[in-house]
Order: sequence, then C-alpha cells, then structure tokens
Amino acid sequence: SYVLQVSDISKTYGNDKIKVHALKKSSLTFSQGEFTAIIGKSGSGKSTLLRILGTLERPDAGEVLLDGENICRLSDKKLSEIRRRKIGFIYQDYSLFPEYTAYENIVMPIHLDGRTENKHIIKDIMNTLGILSCGDRFPAEMSGGEQQRTAIARALCISPSVILADEPTGNLDAENANEVVMLMSKAARLYNQTIIMVTHDRQMADYADRVLKICDGMFV
Ligand code: ADP
Ligand code: ADP
Repeated sequence: SYVLQVSDISKTYGNDKIKVHALKKSSLTFSQGEFTAIIGKSGSGKSTLLRILGTLERPDAGEVLLDGENICRLSDKKLSEIRRRKIGFIYQDYSLFPEYTAYENIVMPIHLDGRTENKHIIKDIMNTLGILSCGDRFPAEMSGGEQQRTAIARALCISPSVILADEPTGNLDAENANEVVMLMSKAARLYNQTIIMVTHDRQMADYADRVLKICDGMFV
C-alpha cells in the first residue's frame, strides 16, 4: 500500500474570464521511505501540488489518500491535526523561530503536540544531520546549511507519514545545497521516511530515488 495516493486531482485558479489550470487531472503514488524529487519550471504547478498534499489547499476534483484516508473532505480541525502529526514541512527560508535555540526549534512540534521528546532519538537525528554541536545555538548563530539541517531535524523528529520540502536549497550555495539534499536522501533511507521535494534545480534531483517532471500542470 502507498503512503500517499493521488488520483486525478485538478486545481484551477481565476474567474470566468481568466482561468489558470494549475493542475490537470494528475495521478501519483508515493511509497514508504521513498525520496521523490518533483522538478519543473516556475509556474508549472509544483507549489500547488505541495499545498494540496500538505492539506493547506483542497483540489477542485480528484482525491488524495494519506495512509488510506481521503484528506480532501475532512474538516479544517481534522486537517490541522493531520498537519501536526502526519506531515513535516521544510521551506526555502528554513522558518525557524529566531528566539529559540536549534534544539528547542527541533522539539517544538513534539511539545506543541503535548508530548515530551525522547532525547536519545533527537540526538540521533541531530547526529545523522551533523548538527549535534548546534543544539544551544540560535538561528542567527548558524549558517544557512546548518539552519536548513535543523529544519530537517524538526520535520523528522515527529516521524511524519510524509515530509514535504518546497525548494529546500533555494537559499543555499551549491556546496550546502548538495549537502542538504544528500542528507535528506540519507534520512529517507535511515529512517524509512517518505520525502517529497519540489525543486526547479535539476541537479538537486540526482539524489532522489525517483524524479517526476511537471509541465503546465501535467506530469510528463
Ligand atoms: P510552481 O510552484 O511550479 O512555480 P505554482 O503551483 O505556484 O507553480 O503555480 C501554477 C500556476 O497557478 C501558475 O500559473 C500560477 O500563476 C497559478 N497560481 C498559483 N497559485 C495561485 C493563486 N493563489 N491564485 C491564482 N493563481 C495561482
Ligand atoms: P493549529 O490551527 O492546530 O494551531 P495550524 O493548522 O495553523 O495549527 O498549523 C498546523 C501546522 O501546519 C503548523 O505547525 C505548520 O507546520 C503547518 N502549517 C499551517 N499553515 C501553514 C502554511 N500556510 N504554510 C505551511 N505550513 C503551514
């Protein structure tokens, strides 16, 4: 069975006069532990797909099954719980809280869920990502690469059904970008973590298990 099963989803923006078909009847499946890269030009529909998979937006038609559950018709309250427990988000701008240390940022999703972290598991994840020594540092005291690795640790620590990464290397130089994507690939393997990365940088897709190309709202 699949972690994510997308069937015939469509999304249109605009009104009667101007319509943009951001996604056209797309169908995709994602397996446990698979690291998928989705590549495509700007405006091809990558972010729209990621927002739908992240339950931040609903498709006009079609369905998305997450762990077998159709997430397109759930209430906003239920979706917020699914986002908290089952989906990890990684952004281009890292989105760390500046007034908290790296460690505090990493465990925040666990605390927000009313649970206490297992320190051994957190340290293991930080070690895998090479940020064990960054625990007490604030985001402003870390490099871009270290900040993004902290954001990856934050996404991994709740062991979500899927991690969605939107242009995670967009603000990094080539060396740090390669390292971050290599570590995402390593984490997918080591923790059997499903990861979907959207990027317009073809080279970043070299580390993925599978590469999907989207063009004008269609997978080609
Ligand atoms: P990408 O992430 O590949 O750059 P997007 O998913 O952002 O592509 O956009 C796909 C198309 O949908 C583009 O033509 C874009 O202008 C349009 N679009 C995306 N979001 C909106 C929105 N909220 N309102 C109107 N048009 C949108
Ligand atoms: P709640 O309503 O339960 O306080 P939200 O639904 O606002 O929480 O957010 C739950 C999680 O979903 C957040 O921790 C965040 O990671 C993610 N999230 C919410 N809104 C967005 C957004 N606009 N873009 C990206 N991620 C979001």
